[in-house]
Amino acid sequence: MDANDYRYSRQTRLPEIGAAGAARLKAAHVMIVGVGALGSQVAELLCRAGIRKLTLVDPDVVDASNLQRQMLYGERDVERGLPKVAAARERLLQINSLLEVDVHATEFDAAFLARTGLPADVDVLVDGLDGLDTRLQLNAAAVAAGVPYVYGAALGMEGCCFTVLPGETACLHCLLGSPALHQSQKTCAVAGVLASTIGQVATTQFTETVKLLVGRADACRREMVYFNVWENTQFALPVMRRADCEVCVKRRGETGTAAAPARSRLLCGRNALQLQVPPPAPAFAHLAARAPLDSIRSRTEYHLERLHVFEGRQYRLTFFSDGRVIVDGTRDEDLAHALLADALEAS
Ligand SMILES: [Zn+2]
Repeated sequence: MDANDYRYSRQTRLPEIGAAGAARLKAAHVMIVGVGALGSQVAELLCRAGIRKLTLVDPDVVDASNLQRQMLYGERDVERGLPKVAAARERLLQINSLLEVDVHATEFDAAFLARTGLPADVDVLVDGLDGLDTRLQLNAAAVAAGVPYVYGAALGMEGCCFTVLPGETACLHCLLGSPALHQSQKTCAVAGVLASTIGQVATTQFTETVKLLVGRADACRREMVYFNVWENTQFALPVMRRADCEVCVKRRGETGTAAAPARSRLLCGRNALQLQVPPPAPAFAHLAARAPLDSIRSRTEYHLERLHVFEGRQYRLTFFSDGRVIVDGTRDEDLAHALLADALEAS
């Protein structure tokens, strides 16, 4: 038995996995969209299970309020203001240096799909998102590409999980595509969430993903599974394929038309706004060269974080390579635009 076989021996000896399953895991490529609480836990479990490659997409940086449940991150990542995908890759490579990790510090949206798209050799898509619109977009992309999609969501003490097998099961749009649902979206920042709710959903998503990767789609649960971790209860409901579903039946592809990017977006639960710098996006080298040296807090190939004093107050600006900027310290859109313009002018 070589070192690699030994490393994975505890899972390979399971009859559900076996040598054939181990070989499939070793070749597998999974894309996780959103590496917050759910995504980072599924990423770590897949990394430890010995898959070949992970592709991670997330636009945000690590924040102190993430540490209660987002397993891949620590205080040092908050201090460094690292993009989640950069911090996640660092930690994942410490766990398993053979893993290939491809990261995108950007929003998963129509522009990303047009620019980058899904990886051609991806085996499974895992949902680590926190908004319904983005989830429906991921669902539509998965169905169009014929790639299985493992949905998961957690809020408060309750979570749920559902595996979409394109051409076979219902899709997320069959279940949640009604516009009324878009109006009633609570978030973890508003309702709170216990870390074990995340754990329950993430381990279920991981297990469904492993079934798919080892060629056992037949073992996937074809129902929406609900959990309540406080009451220790679990139940499942069938999800019927809707005869008029625009995504999985009528195959109209993406739902709706791609909206023009909003001028700004409030970040969930934080005193921060995300803005889009008018193109062309300023190069990091330019920003770094012109900013006072002690104002730069951290930088990677995907981001540059600097402090900027405006009207006597200090703000934190995080520039991303895709042209986004997160302005920390205000939820006032006009103020954020004014201080960004000032920062760009000053540099
Ligand atoms: Zn559908």
